[in-house]
Formats: sequence, C-alpha cells, structure tokens
Amino acid sequence: MHNPCLACGACCATFRVSFYRGEAIPGDGAVPEELTTPVTPFRLAMLGTTAEPVRCVALEGEVGGRCACAIHPLRPSPCRDFEASWEQGQPHDRCDQARARHGLPPLSPADWA
Ligand code: SF4
Ligand code: SF4
Repeated sequence: MHNPCLACGACCATFRVSFYRGEAIPGDGAVPEELTTPVTPFRLAMLGTTAEPVRCVALEGEVGGRCACAIHPLRPSPCRDFEASWEQGQPHDRCDQARARHGLPPLSPADWA
C-alpha cells in the first residue's frame, strides 16, 4: 500500500513528542536515549520537539518531500499511536493540522490507494 507519510513528515515537525521515560530504558525496542531530552522527572521528549521550530532529530529528509524516521522500529509510543487521516477510514485533526502548518493539504482516501 502507498504510504503518504513517506512524503510528508509534518507531524514530526509540528508537535512535542513526549513519553514515559521507561520507553528509553536500554533493552529490546527501547527508544535511543541519546535522542531524547528530559521534560519532567518521569517524561522524556524527542530532541528537537520541545521548542520552535519543531523538528524531531530522528526525522530524515524534507517535510513534504521524501522523508523517513531514522528510528522507525524504535520510535516512541506517541509516534506509534499517531494516526494519519484516512489511514483507518476517517480523518484526524492532528494530522490535518500538522500538514496545514507546513502548507500541505489534508490527506484524502485517495492518498492511500
Ligand atoms: S502529518 Fe499525517 S500524513 Fe504527515 S507524516 Fe504525520 S501522520 Fe503522516
Ligand atoms: S521519532 Fe520518528 S516518527 Fe517520532 S517524531 Fe521523531 S521522526 Fe517522527
């Protein structure tokens, strides 16, 4: 299936990506701790997502062009849980907002064809 996220990356350059620090405890599937920064005693955020201009340190490529997550198999839970519009048959405001912020139109069902 065509994945429009590989030509977008807007959410990785829009939102703070924070998560429970246990996700970066070294071990199988852990988020690479060196790519994170503490935001509270119990939470980390991906470097690059805590201040404007937001751009996650793990985002490779160009927003709106070819792009990819350098740590895709190890990405934190907010990234795993983030749903793209129409990926599961419905729109999602946060995806649409992120794309709008980068001058991209909202996805449509046709983008997943
Ligand atoms: S903003 Fe939406 S389309 Fe773009 S990468 Fe994120 S989930 Fe995918
Ligand atoms: S970890 Fe990967 S999916 Fe998550 S914000 Fe960073 S680049 Fe995007």
